[in-house]
Amino acid sequence: MMRVKHLLGGQWVDGSGEGTVLRDPATGAPVASSSADGVDVAGPLAWARRTGGAELRAMTFRERGALLARFAEKLREGRPAYYDAVLANMGANKRDAVFDIDGAIAVLRYYAGLGEELGDRRTLIEPGFAQMTRSEEYRVAHLLTPRQGIAIGINAFNFPAWGMFEKVATATLAGMPSLAKPATQTALVAYLMVRDLYEANLIPDGVLSLLSAGGRDLVEMVEEEDTLAFTGSADTAIMLRSNRHLITHGARFNAEADSLNAIFALEDLSAASVESLVDAVVTEMTIKAGQKCTAIRRVIVPDELLGSISERLVARMSSLKIGDARNPEVEMGPLVSRAQQESVIAGAALLAQEGKSLLAGASSVEFIDVDPHVAAVVAPALIQISDPSSARLVHELEVFGPCVALMGYRSMSEGIELVRRGRGSLVATIVTDDDAAFAETAVALGSLHGRLAQLNSATAALNPGHGVVMPQGIHGGPGRAGGGEELGGLRALPFYSQRSAIQATVPVLESLRRESAELG
Ligand code: NAP
Repeated sequence: MMRVKHLLGGQWVDGSGEGTVLRDPATGAPVASSSADGVDVAGPLAWARRTGGAELRAMTFRERGALLARFAEKLREGRPAYYDAVLANMGANKRDAVFDIDGAIAVLRYYAGLGEELGDRRTLIEPGFAQMTRSEEYRVAHLLTPRQGIAIGINAFNFPAWGMFEKVATATLAGMPSLAKPATQTALVAYLMVRDLYEANLIPDGVLSLLSAGGRDLVEMVEEEDTLAFTGSADTAIMLRSNRHLITHGARFNAEADSLNAIFALEDLSAASVESLVDAVVTEMTIKAGQKCTAIRRVIVPDELLGSISERLVARMSSLKIGDARNPEVEMGPLVSRAQQESVIAGAALLAQEGKSLLAGASSVEFIDVDPHVAAVVAPALIQISDPSSARLVHELEVFGPCVALMGYRSMSEGIELVRRGRGSLVATIVTDDDAAFAETAVALGSLHGRLAQLNSATAALNPGHGVVMPQGIHGGPGRAGGGEELGGLRALPFYSQRSAIQATVPVLESLRRESAELG
């Protein structure tokens, strides 16, 4: 059985004992194990801050970008092995694996390109020098320098590759070394990817470290100039965010937590746009078996469309082929573990108390090539909520799997209110054929959403997809979604930098500007 180790202090280290066994969720077979028991993390963190930080700060943006491009190139070569690893460790078929693996490579490439554009400079500067007093000669500029700590990235189980490299790409380009901590149960692919980079001699000393398990005391190790970017459940985010040591040291904290993302149909929909909505819901429900933080959880449609949309969704979802993704016929693989399976089945049953299940459930599904007593397979759940305005759970409980709640609204204001009851989401899709109505609705929903996408039959092929996070746009959401923000091109870099107001004479500011890349 493979051993998933840790890259700390520039070398591979292992913990004692068997630790956590990583399993194939389709067969239950053990595929690897990982332990961080007895592993020293504090010493290697100090070394990485010092060594990796110095390495990156000495590089220009162009050189940091070139490093990311080399990472991307190496990882591209390793893709077949990574697809196999996510199939074995997560039950993911090729389509699901591509989101994670190719998504990781794409985000590295994107930030590599931004590094090239920023050029031979090491700091960022905001445009404009503001006059502060009557004097026109002495002004203020805002300069961003890399924080001289370590960027710790703790990731959720569902995106071991992309989750790690979207954080590593942005921190590296900003000039900070990284420590990546994948979720233990799905750390295999993260380990293989970092191992390939290490064996190809692509990781400058201290620039990238990996802790594949454990890490419970990481938050107690943060220092003033460190950053802690967390992706995972709201409960863990709250626990980390409220940690006294983190607060006392003023380390930066970013949280990407869970979210009850909605797809919201406006009243004017053409039949073709209704089809686009149905496609989007089925896609979101089946990719990674609904284990995506951005997946659609709530489908909110005008009362008049409720009947036709539910019929179409039932028809599509009840014919889904579910089972072991090794079989190419299978459209939806298992959940990542039996624990996840239990939690999804229990969550769907709770939601069903607020309405009725429109699909027959596991007893009527013939799972393909798996033993349902062993595999973490689940049947999709589509629940029509009886009284969406007075319902509570549907607006509070995230069921992290192929489970969608459908609800009708009577007036536009009620519809908007239902979407907003997610109390802060990563994304909502607004389905309408009317551009002006989309823009007006986006304004009404903006304050509670990190991303809002326009969907109709004309934009369906243009939109990367409701659940797809692109590095050009920000990722994150307010309120229960964690209140964080990642990606969004250069918008990601200030998190890893200190912005300082530089008060000086204009020639001094001009020379700083020449030395810095402008943050437009
Ligand atoms: P989780 O249980 O909160 O775990 C997330 C990560 O935190 C794992 O690496 C876990 O390590 C680590 N962790 C747990 N307790 C910790 C502690 N005390 N100190 C340091 N690290 C700790 O979440 P999950 O079950 O992996 O992920 C599912 C959730 O993530 C869902 O709710 C989903 O919505 C959310 N999610 C959000 C986004 C987003 O971008 N907003 C993306 C993906 C997923 P171990 O694995 O070792 O326990």
